[in-house]
Amino acid sequence: MIALSLAEIAAVVGGQTHDIPDPSAEVTGPVVRDSREVGPGTLFAAFAGERVDGHDFARQVVEAGAVAVLASRPVGVPAIVVEDVQSALGALARHVVRRLGATLVALTGSAGKTSTKDLIAQVLQRKAPTVWTPGSLNNEIGLPLTALSATEETRFLVLEMGARGIGHIRYLTDLTPPKIGLVLNVGSAHIGEFGGREQIAQAKGELVEALPEDGTAVLNADDPLVRAMASRTKAKVILFGESDEADVRAENVRLTDSGQPAFLLRTPSGASEVTMRLYGEHHVSNALAAAAVAHELGMSAEEIATALSEAGSLSRWRMEVTERPDGVTIVNDAYNANPESMRAALRALAAMGRGRRTWAVLGKMAELGDEALAEHDAVGRLAVRLNVGKLVAVGGREASWLQLGAYNEGSWGEESVHVSDAQAAVDLLRSELRPGDVVLVKASRSVGLESVAQALVETG
Ligand code: ATP
Ligand code: MG
Repeated sequence: MIALSLAEIAAVVGGQTHDIPDPSAEVTGPVVRDSREVGPGTLFAAFAGERVDGHDFARQVVEAGAVAVLASRPVGVPAIVVEDVQSALGALARHVVRRLGATLVALTGSAGKTSTKDLIAQVLQRKAPTVWTPGSLNNEIGLPLTALSATEETRFLVLEMGARGIGHIRYLTDLTPPKIGLVLNVGSAHIGEFGGREQIAQAKGELVEALPEDGTAVLNADDPLVRAMASRTKAKVILFGESDEADVRAENVRLTDSGQPAFLLRTPSGASEVTMRLYGEHHVSNALAAAAVAHELGMSAEEIATALSEAGSLSRWRMEVTERPDGVTIVNDAYNANPESMRAALRALAAMGRGRRTWAVLGKMAELGDEALAEHDAVGRLAVRLNVGKLVAVGGREASWLQLGAYNEGSWGEESVHVSDAQAAVDLLRSELRPGDVVLVKASRSVGLESVAQALVETG
């Protein structure tokens, strides 16, 4: 964080100082909400959660070096007391990013935000000091915390923005106004909460509405609802995708035998070959998005291609591939799932599994509202069409819909099973896996199928 005195912070957030002997004392470290991350120079933001109340840690964090606590009541140690800690954090982030010399890049979309954010960070980092959202901390608390972790040296600040409804992105762009705004796709994530794809597009498009005239909207040419957002921004528009009208394109897209995408990257500055280390063809779109941002920030096609070819995943449980000593390959994509990412992961499994036995251990895709039955059915069908060796559907009703889809596509009997829970899936696979098999594990976050992937990795 850039150094700020407690007096200045109190003024910015409209707070009262309590028990502060020296208001000119400076916060130099980041703002943190987890008492275990507190160190000298930090400001501790006390949130009252359901199970733990940050205020209870006030004394402990000050002893550990925190300069003060941002709190909603006096806590007996140096504190800036505000009505609402979340709003105060937002106000502080807004103040700090205005003073930073960094270019803000914000991205949103239904699927692939974190993967793309990680790619952008790894590409931009080669050019200048870059700070990015850790993991998926993309909401009204994670975003300001990330912004506040930037320092005077930071040149690029890459922020993932999540939306669960209309107005959410606008709230985030008010805190940290981006210069470059990227929209990846409009899929069905959270469609149940939103009410439909048009509403999702409405919500995600708030990102490009927030861009200034001298900013850039980076839009997916292959997604009609994203493409249409061009009319909602005053900023310049650049398009990425496989379509001919895209400014940043992929040509000759293919999957290598190991399931990794390769393509010729074409940007307005030239062309260069990319072979990714990440798995799954959905990363082509993510890579093009990252390339478009990097191009806009002055990087050449060659520089971008090299960075993309060397980039790995920075976040866990996203197509994380482990080769067991016995030759079984476990693909842990259990972080989350929606229809788009299920299809992408199944296609990656099919590519990696050429000539091998393949297993798809799948659980429910949450928050699909009225489309839930049809979407699970479609995934079950796709597994059959891609010749996946065996579908193991894990969980309740939605899992039975997956299996039903497989049956509906025909020709299946033995090839799909429905088990009640993660442990049953582990037991089944432990007894049936043979050297050379490839196993994909994927479901929505709430299902917690990473336990299956981890158990299988440890078995080997
Ligand atoms: P969240 O909303 O949970 O933060 P996210 O948008 O950040 O999700 P990721 O974490 O990058 O997305 O990926 C979530 C899932 O979507 C993963 O299973 C990943 O394999 C898949 N995925 C990644 N990129 C795409 C894409 N462009 N299209 C479809 N699926 C994708
Ligand atoms: Mg994410």
